[in-house]
Amino acid sequence: MARIFLSSPHMGGREMGFVKEAFDTNWIAPLGKNVNEFEREMASYIGIGHAAALSAGTAALHMGLKAAGVKQGDIVFCSALTFSASANPIMYEKATPIFIDSEYETWNMSPKALRKAFNKYPNVKAVVVVDLYGQSADWDEILDICGEHNVQVIEDAAEALGSTYKGKKCGSFGKYGILSFNGNKIITTSGGGMLLSDDEERIQKVRFWSTQSREKARHYQHEELGYNYRMSNIVAGIGRGQMFVLDDRVAKKREIFEKYKKAFEDIDDIEMMPRFEKGESNCWLSCMTIKQNSKVSPLDIMIALENSDIESRPIWKPMNLQPYYKKYDFITESTQISVAEDIFNRGVCLPSDTKITEEDQQRVIDIIKKLF
Ligand SMILES: *Cc1c(COP(=O)(O)O)cnc(C)c1O
Repeated sequence: MARIFLSSPHMGGREMGFVKEAFDTNWIAPLGKNVNEFEREMASYIGIGHAAALSAGTAALHMGLKAAGVKQGDIVFCSALTFSASANPIMYEKATPIFIDSEYETWNMSPKALRKAFNKYPNVKAVVVVDLYGQSADWDEILDICGEHNVQVIEDAAEALGSTYKGKKCGSFGKYGILSFNGNKIITTSGGGMLLSDDEERIQKVRFWSTQSREKARHYQHEELGYNYRMSNIVAGIGRGQMFVLDDRVAKKREIFEKYKKAFEDIDDIEMMPRFEKGESNCWLSCMTIKQNSKVSPLDIMIALENSDIESRPIWKPMNLQPYYKKYDFITESTQISVAEDIFNRGVCLPSDTKITEEDQQRVIDIIKKLF
């Protein structure tokens, strides 16, 4: 039997056409029609003014922080429960991250903890808020608080392409939004990312920085530090092809989640990730938590699946627990174990590959059910 993946690339069939066109016109690199069109199509899908296609979601976060004016020594708040790429660009700019705990309702940044963090650190340059596993953060609350403090928000929607909050697409809530097209994301370009904003001047600036900050001069003139972060025209062609199947991928991810949810309904010890009522998650990964005193641990589940050549993984280990980041402050509302740590301890990400068959998903379900 073939291995069952957590979330792997899933081509739709139209990608090669755009890649071939780039070849046929010899428009391999760097920029060209595919890049421009991919930016335009994505901005229109998200419902935002402008987009800059970049080499990775991490590069988009880095450029977002720079565009927001983050500099050495600045304080940047960041969701604690996330993948390290949300936080690393803060270090690239030698700024100081402060990690904010999650809430149980969304698993995302807790507005209460955020408020507490502003009381302790009134001078904050930017806030990086993640839409984890495709679930939107509580945007009204978070934007209100950040607005009171006049602080720019960067929305890390790397996992949330196709998700919404009150009918509006994720990626459009901060002053800047970022997307990732890494191989495991909901659509992929093999690797890539995008920075989104309504601020055309800032997006233009990011395009300039990410093509080595070359000034308009015949010779190579540089007045600012440059980066080589632009997406290539070939990669963008894959992205244009993937746009045709984005809605199908979201529908399939949601179907996978609902099948797990139904299957585990009668097992008391299992709780699926809550679905926040103000949003519609793309269900990028189907996640669950096991009750505290269950006889089955998340590790038991991961091992049982691995023994049948099925991929699963723990919840992201919170940034405040990472050796590299542990010297930075962490703000929580909880008086006991933090929410992020509790979810990490009790959680599992289940196989959520859009190519999974009904039978294969049933196999995953049966293996897990047998443990309880
Ligand atoms: C994948 C991911 C990123 C980074 O995107 P890359 O394209 O891999 O650089 C950033 N944040 C989150 C939450 C992610 O899941």
